[in-house]
Amino acid sequence: APRGVMATGVYSPQHDIYSESRLTLMSDLKEALQRDQTCLHYQPKMCLRTGRVVGLEALVRWHHPERGWVFPSDFIPLAEETGVITQLTRWAVERGLKDLAALAGDYPDLELSINISARDLTDKGLVQSIQAALSQHGIRPNQLTLELTETAAMEDPETGFKALQALAEAGLQISIDDFGSGYSSLSYLKQLPASEIKLDRSLIIDILESDSSRVIVETAVNMVHGLGYAVIAEGVENEDAAQLLRELNCDRLQGYWLSKPLPLAELQDWLLVQNFPSKLLPQPTATEA
Ligand code: C2E
Ligand code: MG
Ligand code: MG
Ligand code: MG
Repeated sequence: APRGVMATGVYSPQHDIYSESRLTLMSDLKEALQRDQTCLHYQPKMCLRTGRVVGLEALVRWHHPERGWVFPSDFIPLAEETGVITQLTRWAVERGLKDLAALAGDYPDLELSINISARDLTDKGLVQSIQAALSQHGIRPNQLTLELTETAAMEDPETGFKALQALAEAGLQISIDDFGSGYSSLSYLKQLPASEIKLDRSLIIDILESDSSRVIVETAVNMVHGLGYAVIAEGVENEDAAQLLRELNCDRLQGYWLSKPLPLAELQDWLLVQNFPSKLLPQPTATEA
């Protein structure tokens, strides 16, 4: 079929990844990555047993010279389709570890999570480029977590599984992002070389109001623990939800209640003034998760 004509014969610009404006967006993104015009914002993660901040998730932000702020949902899917994601991931690893190194003097045990996509699992040089960045910035491999969705991990199970295993063997941690938002294959889940499962915001959003949501989260936490993984909840927006998650034995949380994603300088200020135990009182026998 000619360019832009779908099988149905209906022209659909949204579905034409090669439309001119989308190609322009991708060449702009490549240029922005080269010139370091993209940046990362960092959202803190809290340990629910100690109430302390234990890690950060890096989320890409792009200020386009003409379009203004462009959000990940507007360019990540296209970057995945066009392969530009490979370049973005390598940039994010480099920038994220550089920023983590800047925090390491004050917070030597802080962990960093970076999101990766299915396509990254076919990037043969990824492990090596991560290892180079780790040693350049003096970061231990187990301080770095790669987050990817279950769907991404299963896109090509054989290649995906091998690539994840190579990353895990290099000492990195793997987190399964947005768990519970799509089709979950429990038989596949138990084989993944992951260390953490991240419960999707859609499961967390109404745990205070809905008995069935609470039962699903409680069951998911127990199942994930039974498989030997840690469990973190994303999208936690209020204190009551945080308390309930702690009662349900969830290990960690992340969400607007604790903090929105912040630029590095704001994060540094936030870390200084934050008195975590005042947000959530730790239980007496606190060990870190
Ligand atoms: P994600 O990895 O599941 O990230 C969580 C998203 O939820 C982020 O949106 C974050 O800002 C938002 N969020 C965090 N806490 C709350 C909350 O309490 N309430 C609500 N309503 N939202 C919350 P963001 O930054 O727009 O990122 C969207 C998605 O884009 C991410 O989902 C991730 O899949 C992708 N993404 C972001 N940065 C990168 C990156 O560097 N590489 C790749 N491959 N994907 C990325
Ligand atoms: Mg994520
Ligand atoms: Mg997520
Ligand atoms: Mg999500």
